[in-house]
Amino acid sequence: MTLLIEADLTWTGTRFEPGVQIAMGGDGRIEAVGPLGRAGAERLNRIALLPGFVDTHSHAFQRGLRGRGERFPAGAGSFWTWREAMYALVHSLDRASLRQLSAKAFGEMRDAGITTVGEFHYVHHERDGDFALDEPLLQAAADVGIRIVLLYSYYATGAPGQPLLGPQRRFATPSIDGFWQQVDRLTPLLDPATQTLGIAPHSIRAASPDQIALLHGEAVRRGLPVHLHVEEQRREIDESIAAYGRTPMAAILDAVQGGAFTAVHCTRRVGSPACAPSRRATWATAYPGSPAPTRWEGGSPWAQTATTGWPCSRRCAGWSTASGSGTSCAARCRTPPATSRRSYSTLRRKAEPRRSAYPPGGLSQVAGRIWWR
Ligand SMILES: [Zn+2]
Repeated sequence: MTLLIEADLTWTGTRFEPGVQIAMGGDGRIEAVGPLGRAGAERLNRIALLPGFVDTHSHAFQRGLRGRGERFPAGAGSFWTWREAMYALVHSLDRASLRQLSAKAFGEMRDAGITTVGEFHYVHHERDGDFALDEPLLQAAADVGIRIVLLYSYYATGAPGQPLLGPQRRFATPSIDGFWQQVDRLTPLLDPATQTLGIAPHSIRAASPDQIALLHGEAVRRGLPVHLHVEEQRREIDESIAAYGRTPMAAILDAVQGGAFTAVHCTRRVGSPACAPSRRATWATAYPGSPAPTRWEGGSPWAQTATTGWPCSRRCAGWSTASGSGTSCAARCRTPPATSRRSYSTLRRKAEPRRSAYPPGGLSQVAGRIWWR
């Protein structure tokens, strides 16, 4: 059964236009958009329609961290103190609480207009090696009715050459082969209409360049998107240079041999070797709504873009809301002056049409697929 709606205004790619009808099939997919002129349309008065937003980077469980990771004296907090709070939350998680927290985060996204989430998922275990915390993410997404790209994380080390310690053991993936076995285990559990997989070697802290190369190669063979945290912290860069003689970005670019991947964060990218112009399929995503310790320091990637030119061939193509921060895109437009311009800018980018700001299929490369709903 087809549903036909017509709002006062609809974003058509370059502007809002009146008189646009949207016809949707019984499966929720849009069949036609335009001045269809069909009779019987449901009128949506005083409403303007936009495409559903894509949240390209989420750690839904961190909804349970909201506010808790930033309760320290001014100047005393850092990414590493925030991470301790996050690890305490990780330690407390079980299947039920993960599903509940994730559903809460996904529900807030959905209510804010986000219809697809890229869930960068690395908390795999309730007990050592059981992978009991994978399926609750899919269940939570289904509970809420949000489309999900489960970005399944590979996490082998706590830092280059260092074992996983304490709560980090909940992130552990076995060998490369064992990792793909888990991916294969999850594949038949997906709702093919609303759920897909990608992979996420967590970061240069958690995966060596050799491992990243192997994972990326297999992901390309399977047609899966690849996301990585890149240069999130100064210490990470120092450790990478000490271990591999290169910054994380340089090491990863060498590992993927010019292949496509999405670089997340890039908060300390300044000073790192620039991506070669030939790296045409490299993306970056950042999240302006994250807790303070994980935000940009010394200027956002957007600011770098404006002042120095973003060296990668493509810039952020999505909104992301990792961590315990709010999920309302609109709410970010009411943030304090220091961040409001950044938020507006990002929101504007987000709302811009794919065909003007990004190449065809651009958003879908970042978060898997884009959907209208
Ligand atoms: Zn992240």
